[in-house]
Amino acid sequence: MVQKSRRAVVFTGAGVSTECGIPDFRSAGGFWTKYKPIEFREFLASADTRLEAWRRFLMIRETIGNASPGPGHRAISELVARGHVSHVITQNIDGLHEQAGVPAERIIEIHGNGTYATCLSCGLRHEIDWVKAAIAQANAAPSCVSCEGIVKSATISFGQPMPDQQMADARAATFNADLFLAIGSSLQVFPAAGFPVTAKQNRTPLVIINREPTGLDGLADLVINAEIGPVLTAVIGRL
Ligand code: NAD
Repeated sequence: MVQKSRRAVVFTGAGVSTECGIPDFRSAGGFWTKYKPIEFREFLASADTRLEAWRRFLMIRETIGNASPGPGHRAISELVARGHVSHVITQNIDGLHEQAGVPAERIIEIHGNGTYATCLSCGLRHEIDWVKAAIAQANAAPSCVSCEGIVKSATISFGQPMPDQQMADARAATFNADLFLAIGSSLQVFPAAGFPVTAKQNRTPLVIINREPTGLDGLADLVINAEIGPVLTAVIGRL
Protein backbone atom coordinates (compact mmCIF):
# COMPACT_ATOMS: atom_id res chain seq x y z
CA MET A 1 0.00 0.00 0.00
CA VAL A 2 2.80 2.42 0.88
CA GLN A 3 4.74 1.54 -2.24
CA LYS A 4 1.79 2.52 -4.48
CA SER A 5 0.99 5.72 -2.61
CA ARG A 6 2.17 9.17 -3.74
CA ARG A 7 0.05 11.37 -1.43
CA ALA A 8 -0.26 9.35 1.76
CA VAL A 9 -1.03 11.21 4.96
CA VAL A 10 0.64 10.07 8.16
CA PHE A 11 -1.36 10.99 11.27
CA THR A 12 0.61 10.59 14.49
CA GLY A 13 -0.14 10.58 18.20
CA ALA A 14 1.89 10.33 21.36
CA GLY A 15 2.76 6.66 20.62
CA VAL A 16 5.33 7.63 17.98
CA SER A 17 7.36 9.43 20.65
CA THR A 18 7.32 6.84 23.46
CA GLU A 19 10.38 5.22 21.84
CA CYS A 20 12.14 8.54 22.54
CA GLY A 21 11.32 8.47 26.26
CA ILE A 22 8.29 10.80 26.15
CA PRO A 23 5.36 9.12 27.94
CA ASP A 24 2.10 8.92 26.03
CA PHE A 25 -1.17 10.21 27.37
CA ARG A 26 -3.16 7.19 28.42
CA SER A 27 -0.72 4.37 29.18
CA ALA A 28 -0.67 3.52 32.89
CA GLY A 29 1.79 5.11 35.29
CA GLY A 30 2.91 8.04 33.14
CA PHE A 31 2.99 11.73 34.01
CA TRP A 32 -0.31 12.34 32.28
CA THR A 33 -2.24 9.78 34.34
CA LYS A 34 -1.13 11.47 37.59
CA TYR A 35 -2.63 14.86 36.81
CA LYS A 36 -6.09 15.72 35.56
CA PRO A 37 -5.64 17.97 32.50
CA ILE A 38 -6.23 21.68 33.13
CA GLU A 39 -9.04 22.93 30.90
CA PHE A 40 -8.53 26.11 28.89
CA ARG A 41 -11.29 27.99 30.72
CA GLU A 42 -9.68 27.12 34.09
CA PHE A 43 -6.35 28.43 32.77
CA LEU A 44 -8.01 31.71 31.78
CA ALA A 45 -9.99 32.05 34.99
CA SER A 46 -7.29 31.94 37.65
CA ALA A 47 -3.71 33.16 38.06
CA ASP A 48 -3.03 30.29 40.50
CA THR A 49 -4.18 27.73 37.93
CA ARG A 50 -1.96 29.36 35.31
CA LEU A 51 1.02 29.02 37.62
CA GLU A 52 0.17 25.34 38.25
CA ALA A 53 -0.24 24.76 34.49
CA TRP A 54 3.15 26.35 33.83
CA ARG A 55 4.81 24.23 36.57
CA ARG A 56 3.46 21.05 34.96
CA PHE A 57 4.42 22.24 31.50
CA LEU A 58 7.98 22.97 32.61
CA MET A 59 8.25 19.44 34.07
CA ILE A 60 7.09 17.88 30.79
CA ARG A 61 9.42 20.14 28.87
CA GLU A 62 12.41 18.72 30.74
CA THR A 63 11.61 15.34 29.14
CA ILE A 64 10.68 16.70 25.72
CA GLY A 65 13.68 19.02 25.58
CA ASN A 66 16.09 16.09 26.05
CA ALA A 67 14.41 13.79 23.51
CA SER A 68 15.67 13.01 20.01
CA PRO A 69 13.71 11.54 17.11
CA GLY A 70 13.23 7.76 17.25
CA PRO A 71 13.03 5.04 14.59
CA GLY A 72 9.36 5.85 13.88
CA HIS A 73 10.13 9.54 13.22
CA ARG A 74 13.09 8.62 11.03
CA ALA A 75 11.05 6.15 8.95
CA ILE A 76 8.25 8.69 8.46
CA SER A 77 10.80 11.28 7.36
CA GLU A 78 12.14 8.75 4.85
CA LEU A 79 8.63 8.12 3.49
CA VAL A 80 8.23 11.87 2.90
CA ALA A 81 11.68 12.14 1.27
CA ARG A 82 10.94 9.21 -1.05
CA GLY A 83 7.72 10.84 -2.28
CA HIS A 84 5.19 8.47 -0.73
CA VAL A 85 3.84 10.80 1.97
CA SER A 86 2.55 14.31 1.27
CA HIS A 87 1.84 15.48 4.84
CA VAL A 88 2.33 14.52 8.46
CA ILE A 89 -0.60 15.58 10.63
CA THR A 90 0.51 15.34 14.23
CA GLN A 91 -1.19 15.67 17.58
CA ASN A 92 2.24 15.84 19.20
CA ILE A 93 3.73 19.03 20.52
CA ASP A 94 7.33 17.80 20.76
CA GLY A 95 8.65 19.00 17.39
CA LEU A 96 10.33 15.62 16.72
CA HIS A 97 9.01 15.16 13.15
CA GLU A 98 10.79 18.36 12.12
CA GLN A 99 13.92 17.33 14.01
CA ALA A 100 13.84 14.05 12.08
CA GLY A 101 14.04 15.99 8.83
CA VAL A 102 10.42 16.32 7.64
CA PRO A 103 10.21 19.77 5.98
CA ALA A 104 8.16 22.21 8.12
CA GLU A 105 5.70 22.88 5.28
CA ARG A 106 4.74 19.20 5.28
CA ILE A 107 3.99 19.06 9.02
CA ILE A 108 0.59 20.11 10.35
CA GLU A 109 0.61 20.50 14.15
CA ILE A 110 -3.06 20.46 15.07
CA HIS A 111 -2.41 20.62 18.83
CA GLY A 112 0.24 23.32 18.58
CA ASN A 113 3.91 23.35 19.49
CA GLY A 114 5.44 23.13 22.95
CA THR A 115 8.78 24.71 22.13
CA TYR A 116 7.58 28.30 22.65
CA ALA A 117 4.77 30.39 24.21
CA THR A 118 2.48 33.11 22.87
CA CYS A 119 0.39 35.94 24.30
CA LEU A 120 -3.29 35.02 24.03
CA SER A 121 -4.19 38.71 23.45
CA CYS A 122 -1.65 40.07 20.95
CA GLY A 123 0.02 36.84 19.77
CA LEU A 124 3.56 37.94 20.63
CA ARG A 125 5.98 35.02 20.89
CA HIS A 126 7.74 34.46 24.24
CA GLU A 127 10.51 31.94 24.78
CA ILE A 128 9.99 29.18 27.35
CA ASP A 129 13.31 30.00 29.05
CA TRP A 130 12.04 33.55 29.59
CA VAL A 131 8.81 32.16 31.12
CA LYS A 132 10.85 29.86 33.37
CA ALA A 133 13.02 32.74 34.58
CA ALA A 134 9.98 35.00 35.13
CA ILE A 135 8.26 32.34 37.26
CA ALA A 136 11.44 31.74 39.29
CA GLN A 137 11.67 35.47 39.98
CA ALA A 138 8.05 36.33 40.79
CA ASN A 139 6.51 32.96 41.73
CA ALA A 140 3.62 33.88 39.43
CA ALA A 141 2.60 33.11 35.86
CA PRO A 142 4.05 35.81 33.60
CA SER A 143 2.17 38.40 31.55
CA CYS A 144 2.97 39.58 28.03
CA VAL A 145 5.90 42.00 27.85
CA SER A 146 4.02 44.08 25.28
CA CYS A 147 0.33 44.16 26.30
CA GLU A 148 0.24 42.37 29.69
CA GLY A 149 -2.04 39.68 28.23
CA ILE A 150 -1.99 36.06 29.37
CA VAL A 151 1.02 34.08 28.15
CA LYS A 152 0.44 30.40 27.36
CA SER A 153 2.53 27.64 25.79
CA ALA A 154 1.72 27.48 22.07
CA THR A 155 -0.14 24.19 22.59
CA ILE A 156 -3.87 23.53 22.40
CA SER A 157 -5.38 22.66 25.79
CA PHE A 158 -8.53 20.69 26.39
CA GLY A 159 -11.44 23.06 25.74
CA GLN A 160 -9.33 25.50 23.69
CA PRO A 161 -10.49 26.27 20.13
CA MET A 162 -8.57 24.34 17.47
CA PRO A 163 -6.30 26.43 15.21
CA ASP A 164 -8.26 27.36 12.04
CA GLN A 165 -5.38 27.28 9.55
CA GLN A 166 -3.96 23.97 10.73
CA MET A 167 -7.40 22.35 10.75
CA ALA A 168 -8.06 23.60 7.20
CA ASP A 169 -4.63 22.33 6.05
CA ALA A 170 -5.23 18.95 7.71
CA ARG A 171 -8.64 18.64 6.08
CA ALA A 172 -7.21 19.50 2.64
CA ALA A 173 -4.37 16.97 3.02
CA THR A 174 -6.83 14.31 4.17
CA PHE A 175 -9.19 14.89 1.22
CA ASN A 176 -6.22 14.71 -1.16
CA ALA A 177 -4.70 11.56 0.39
CA ASP A 178 -4.39 8.27 -1.48
CA LEU A 179 -3.62 6.41 1.79
CA PHE A 180 -4.13 7.36 5.44
CA LEU A 181 -1.81 5.93 8.10
CA ALA A 182 -2.87 6.52 11.72
CA ILE A 183 0.17 5.77 13.87
CA GLY A 184 0.50 5.70 17.67
CA SER A 185 -2.80 7.28 18.62
CA SER A 186 -5.59 5.88 20.77
CA LEU A 187 -7.89 7.85 18.39
CA GLN A 188 -9.97 9.05 21.32
CA VAL A 189 -9.19 12.78 21.22
CA PHE A 190 -11.61 14.65 18.94
CA PRO A 191 -11.75 16.52 16.63
CA ALA A 192 -8.26 15.17 15.80
CA ALA A 193 -9.48 11.57 15.55
CA GLY A 194 -12.06 12.74 13.00
CA PHE A 195 -9.40 12.83 10.28
CA PRO A 196 -9.13 9.04 9.83
CA VAL A 197 -12.92 8.94 9.74
CA THR A 198 -13.00 11.64 7.05
CA ALA A 199 -10.36 9.74 5.04
CA LYS A 200 -12.44 6.59 5.15
CA GLN A 201 -15.63 8.47 4.21
CA ASN A 202 -13.65 9.72 1.20
CA ARG A 203 -12.87 6.07 0.31
CA THR A 204 -9.19 6.42 1.15
CA PRO A 205 -7.65 3.19 2.49
CA LEU A 206 -7.03 3.47 6.24
CA VAL A 207 -4.20 1.69 8.08
CA ILE A 208 -3.87 1.86 11.88
CA ILE A 209 -0.57 1.03 13.55
CA ASN A 210 -0.84 0.92 17.34
CA ARG A 211 0.25 -1.52 20.01
CA GLU A 212 -3.29 -1.81 21.37
CA PRO A 213 -6.74 -1.69 19.78
CA THR A 214 -8.31 1.71 19.03
CA GLY A 215 -11.94 2.75 18.77
CA LEU A 216 -11.63 3.09 14.99
CA ASP A 217 -10.19 -0.37 14.22
CA GLY A 218 -13.54 -1.45 12.77
CA LEU A 219 -13.22 1.22 10.05
CA ALA A 220 -9.68 0.32 9.01
CA ASP A 221 -8.59 -1.68 5.98
CA LEU A 222 -5.58 -2.93 7.94
CA VAL A 223 -4.76 -2.86 11.66
CA ILE A 224 -1.24 -3.66 12.86
CA ASN A 225 -1.03 -4.11 16.64
CA ALA A 226 2.72 -3.88 17.10
CA GLU A 227 5.58 -1.51 17.98
CA ILE A 228 5.86 1.50 15.66
CA GLY A 229 9.65 1.65 15.16
CA PRO A 230 10.13 -1.99 14.04
CA VAL A 231 6.99 -1.93 11.84
CA LEU A 232 7.92 1.26 9.98
CA THR A 233 11.59 0.27 9.70
CA ALA A 234 10.45 -2.99 8.06
CA VAL A 235 8.21 -1.02 5.67
CA ILE A 236 11.15 1.15 4.60
CA GLY A 237 13.26 -1.98 4.10
CA ARG A 238 10.73 -3.37 1.60
CA LEU A 239 10.30 -0.27 -0.57
P1 NAD B 1 -2.67 8.47 23.51
O1 NAD B 1 -1.75 8.38 24.68
O2 NAD B 1 -4.13 8.58 23.78
O3 NAD B 1 -2.45 7.18 22.60
C1 NAD B 1 -1.16 6.72 22.29
C2 NAD B 1 -1.32 5.29 21.75
O4 NAD B 1 -0.05 4.87 21.28
C3 NAD B 1 -1.78 4.31 22.81
O5 NAD B 1 -2.92 3.61 22.33
C4 NAD B 1 -0.57 3.36 22.99
O6 NAD B 1 -0.96 2.02 23.16
C5 NAD B 1 0.15 3.52 21.68
N1 NAD B 1 1.61 3.36 21.76
C6 NAD B 1 2.45 3.94 22.64
N2 NAD B 1 3.73 3.64 22.33
C7 NAD B 1 3.68 2.83 21.24
C8 NAD B 1 4.67 2.17 20.46
N3 NAD B 1 5.98 2.31 20.73
N4 NAD B 1 4.28 1.40 19.42
C9 NAD B 1 2.95 1.24 19.14
N5 NAD B 1 1.97 1.86 19.83
C10 NAD B 1 2.33 2.65 20.87
O7 NAD B 1 -2.14 9.62 22.58
P2 NAD B 1 -2.90 10.50 21.50
O8 NAD B 1 -3.91 9.69 20.79
O9 NAD B 1 -1.83 11.19 20.74
O10 NAD B 1 -3.70 11.59 22.35
C11 NAD B 1 -3.08 12.23 23.44
C12 NAD B 1 -3.02 13.74 23.40
O11 NAD B 1 -1.94 14.17 24.26
C13 NAD B 1 -2.70 14.29 22.05
O12 NAD B 1 -3.50 15.39 21.86
C14 NAD B 1 -1.24 14.76 22.11
O13 NAD B 1 -1.16 16.08 21.61
C15 NAD B 1 -0.93 14.89 23.59
N6 NAD B 1 0.41 14.32 23.93
C16 NAD B 1 1.51 14.65 23.20
C17 NAD B 1 2.75 14.09 23.48
C18 NAD B 1 3.95 14.45 22.62
O14 NAD B 1 3.99 15.55 22.06
N7 NAD B 1 4.92 13.55 22.47
C19 NAD B 1 2.87 13.18 24.53
C20 NAD B 1 1.72 12.87 25.29
C21 NAD B 1 0.49 13.45 24.97
